[in-house]
Amino acid sequence: MRIGFIGLGNMGAAIAGNLVRAQHDVLVWNRSADKARALVAAGAVLAPTPKAAAADRQAVFTMLADDAALHTVLTGEHGLLAGLEAGAVHVSMSTVAVATTEKMAAMHAARGQRLLCAPVFGRPDSAAAAKLFVVAAGDSAALETVKPVLDAMSQRTFYVGEKPFAASLIKLCGNFMMLAAIEALGEAMALAQKGGIPKGQLLEILTGTLFDSPVYRNYGAILVADRFKPAGFAAPLGLKDMRLVAESSDALRVPMPVLNVLRDHLLQTIAQQGDDMDWSGIAHSIAKNAGL
Ligand code: NAP
Repeated sequence: MRIGFIGLGNMGAAIAGNLVRAQHDVLVWNRSADKARALVAAGAVLAPTPKAAAADRQAVFTMLADDAALHTVLTGEHGLLAGLEAGAVHVSMSTVAVATTEKMAAMHAARGQRLLCAPVFGRPDSAAAAKLFVVAAGDSAALETVKPVLDAMSQRTFYVGEKPFAASLIKLCGNFMMLAAIEALGEAMALAQKGGIPKGQLLEILTGTLFDSPVYRNYGAILVADRFKPAGFAAPLGLKDMRLVAESSDALRVPMPVLNVLRDHLLQTIAQQGDDMDWSGIAHSIAKNAGL
């Protein structure tokens, strides 16, 4: 397919690499052009603007940090909206607010462009291994159009209906549960460790019995090794997600007391350890609070 790919950070660079390897015709754009170098060497073509990355493309994928970055890339004289042809598909993979997805859907509809909201589960290593899980919502015909591209980056795509915001909300629910799992794991590990039990032993027993899930296995390994830098998912992006969960919980009138604890805890970790910590670094703060 003739595709554009915008946003070559930790996730985007790994995903776009798989699309080039799958022989798609890929135009790329990133704010810092140097991050495109390896992809260009592999066969992608660097576009000078988001608009140019969308020209003559059947679909354009975006994988950007946050709502503000997405807005910047979409709008303006050189933006994606100005370059995407009518009928072409924007596949928006960033984790953004439900309200942002709804606004974006209206902007595309006004131009006859199609939107598929398709955030992903999986860290950069899963992206590099083409093992992401995609949660897609929006125009079902658009999904059929881009399915071969989604297949080249993921192990499975879940389609959750015609309303794009549904995918954003499911992604936010998942990230809330992930951080809650990391918090629980961090607290249990601190307790065990303070009682003289090695973290690795606790993890082996928990994941070998009742807690055999990728979140516990993968983050458990990070916690056992205290491997919080370099960040695969930077703590400030996690904080952004907890803010977006809070916005939805306010809008839908859903009290989420655990969310407030997680948000404060992540903020404490960022304040004490810096912006370059992985979000699972909350376990580091938990251990410090326990005097470890
Ligand atoms: P990242 O490494 O920080 O990359 C962020 C990307 O956004 C970079 O390409 C960056 O460009 C671009 N960007 C930031 N501000 C911009 C602006 N104002 N204008 C234009 N471009 C801008 O982040 P990531 O880890 O790849 O995450 C990307 C998205 O995926 C986020 O929404 C995140 O929540 C979500 N996600 C991440 C993971 C994970 O484990 N990392 C997993 C699932 C979902 P520069 O290179 O110029 O800075």
